[in-house]
Amino acid sequence: MTQSQRWRLRGRIILDDGSERPEAWVVGGKLSLTAVSGDVTTLDGVFLPGLVDMHCHIGLDAHGATTPEIAYQQAVVNRDSGVLLVRDAGSALDTSWLQSRTDVPHIIRCGQHIARPRRYLKDFASEIDQSDQLPAEMDRQARRGDGWVKIVADWIEREHGDLAPLWRPQDLAAGVARAHAAGARVTAHTFATESVGALLDAGIDCLEHGTGMSEEHMRRAAEAGIPVVPTLLQIERFDQIAAQGEHRFPDFALRMRRMHAQRREQVHALHALGVSLFVGTDAGGSIAHGRIADECAALVEAGIPSEQVTASASWQSRQYLGRPGMREGEVVQAVRYADDPHLDITALRSPTTIITHGVLQLV
Ligand SMILES: [Zn+2]
Repeated sequence: MTQSQRWRLRGRIILDDGSERPEAWVVGGKLSLTAVSGDVTTLDGVFLPGLVDMHCHIGLDAHGATTPEIAYQQAVVNRDSGVLLVRDAGSALDTSWLQSRTDVPHIIRCGQHIARPRRYLKDFASEIDQSDQLPAEMDRQARRGDGWVKIVADWIEREHGDLAPLWRPQDLAAGVARAHAAGARVTAHTFATESVGALLDAGIDCLEHGTGMSEEHMRRAAEAGIPVVPTLLQIERFDQIAAQGEHRFPDFALRMRRMHAQRREQVHALHALGVSLFVGTDAGGSIAHGRIADECAALVEAGIPSEQVTASASWQSRQYLGRPGMREGEVVQAVRYADDPHLDITALRSPTTIITHGVLQLV
């Protein structure tokens, strides 16, 4: 099918504002809410604004930057899973060239993660020696990315044998202010309880993982409208990570196991206290791309209703990022399902049609 054809969408159609229609039309790749005359091809089903992976690393694998060919393949795998918008949560490869392609998801880049030597995965991050260099590096990454900066807020400190913050609170505050002044929002990798208070004090915009957040942290995040991306597929791996560090770092291993055991309660508490949750697979380091349906199912297992997870993964994320998917007059980015994921989240495993950049990609 080509962009010149006209389609009628029929069934349950979710728009970017969360409202529903029984019918909509796609003309010249754009959404119309008024009936069009002439030849139309009808597509029946449940239509969602293209899914959003809020934490995904295109251009990254277990060893650092990939080749451009592999980054492209990762993007295609994401597309075929129904993900048509990615907030890249840091990549060692500059993937801006992928943004001019219409056959892959749109990528909102974070630039490169910011960490310190031996305080994050090797070959992933832009590593700076001293905490007081953070504001200047955040300013630099803000100018490289597409409106987001990603920092690593805590990681194991080997001398101390446990998770610990990477940055002094005053440097975090100055860094977030610099990123904001450059027009970027800031998100942070955080596993540990000890790093969260300073991130909230600094005016962070979003939190990744959030496994160490206390009830007080959750209340503060809810009040300030700061979302959390729980990345349950990554948290599932915490007991494996604990096993690797068991002998040398028993305190670290104990903490990772405890957070693993409590992962569902943690996510449920965030939801119950009113924190917005977004869906992120954390694909790219150790997790395969294309697993958004699995992450959504894990959120439902943690007690978040299917209806809410479906909304988070589609129109609510798009609203948060300001990228249209199903809005009248805008180019359509949508996914069709035979069954309704609002009722049964496993329906997300089988998209039947992808409309990306107004063009049908897969039936
Ligand atoms: Zn990540």
